[in-house]
Amino acid sequence: MKTNPRNSLGDATLAIHAGEKKHGVNGPVATPIIRSSTFTFANTAEMKRWAEGKSKAFIYTRYGNPTLAVAEAKLAQLEGGEAAVVAASGMAAISSALLAVAQAGDEIIATRQLYGGSYRLMRDLLPRMGITIHHVETDLAGVEQLVNAGTKALYVETPTNPTLRLVDLHKALSIARKYNLVSIIDNTFASPVLQKPLALGFDMVVHSATKYLAGHSDLIAGAVVGSEKWMHHVRDNIIYLGASMDPDAAFLLIRGIKTLEPRVHRQCANAMAVARFLERHPKVARVHYPGLPSHPDHRLARRQMKGFGGMLAFDLKGGLKAARRLCDRVRIFLLAASLGGVESLVVLPIYTSHYRMSPKELAAAGVGPGTVRVSVGLEDPKDLVEDLRQALA
Ligand code: PLP
Repeated sequence: MKTNPRNSLGDATLAIHAGEKKHGVNGPVATPIIRSSTFTFANTAEMKRWAEGKSKAFIYTRYGNPTLAVAEAKLAQLEGGEAAVVAASGMAAISSALLAVAQAGDEIIATRQLYGGSYRLMRDLLPRMGITIHHVETDLAGVEQLVNAGTKALYVETPTNPTLRLVDLHKALSIARKYNLVSIIDNTFASPVLQKPLALGFDMVVHSATKYLAGHSDLIAGAVVGSEKWMHHVRDNIIYLGASMDPDAAFLLIRGIKTLEPRVHRQCANAMAVARFLERHPKVARVHYPGLPSHPDHRLARRQMKGFGGMLAFDLKGGLKAARRLCDRVRIFLLAASLGGVESLVVLPIYTSHYRMSPKELAAAGVGPGTVRVSVGLEDPKDLVEDLRQALA
């Protein structure tokens, strides 16, 4: 299929066909896994052309590979970007994107509510490389006071992990444009089915493709999408850091993406059913789901997302003890980290994504000891509700 970022095909069609080759007789319908570390050249003249940057031939899988290229073309079209780079993990994608924009002496402004791994990367590693990080709340208040000549990027995550707060995409973009900052967004929770930040003007989208994109809890993967120019820098970092995706993982990612659109819509519907049940339950103190009118960002979610997503969190009146009891009693929900797969999961952020964070950092991230995060899967919603009912009884 021709890769034209401006084409008008729907997401379900793009997820299946974008990036895939059209074959004649005997062509494989499923994407072949090119499990080869290296690729042949016909002659030294072809090799010389590659070395001079005049040929896009594959040379070595850490630099690129035909199976990875299908995943990249698919993701570029789904996110509406010129190009994409896949990576060994979401963290590989995030670190390669951040290192493409910032170097020693530079500064990055990021929302405080982030996936714990992204937060720890910014707290523990980037400062050791001479990069200063400033955090702001999801309403972006105070960004303008933090900007100075060294500020290179505005990094946001929306909806946030785990309390599902939203960042106003238009507001983030207008600040980034005003101060000439590179705008980067972690679109893992929404997926391109629910929001397409590049179409609004964001420079780069990063993903833990481990989650909704792959969708089956069977691989670790990441991706960055944006302009050819930015993807060139990101790919260089992936090559330097050795953060490239394996072709087998790329095959699973491609297969997973093909069902992304119907999966995400069903997950949104299931999450709404679970959120409504929890909100009425007497043992539940608070439900964090942008689809509920009680959520502080409900109106913003209606404005900027096509659905409210498959993730939610809730706080139990009984605190940590009650949260542990629930997690130990569920029978259909699995007690596991990660998210975005076909199976529903519950997890305690203080023991997983937000481990090694001080009480102050946890409070700032909106994570209480009794916060339970839920990734809603594709099971029958009535079974999920019944499971929570018996676990809370
Ligand atoms: N971004 C978000 C929002 C996540 O939830 C995660 C993982 O949980 C990551 C990034 C990191 O991705 P990975 O685990 O694939 O490295």
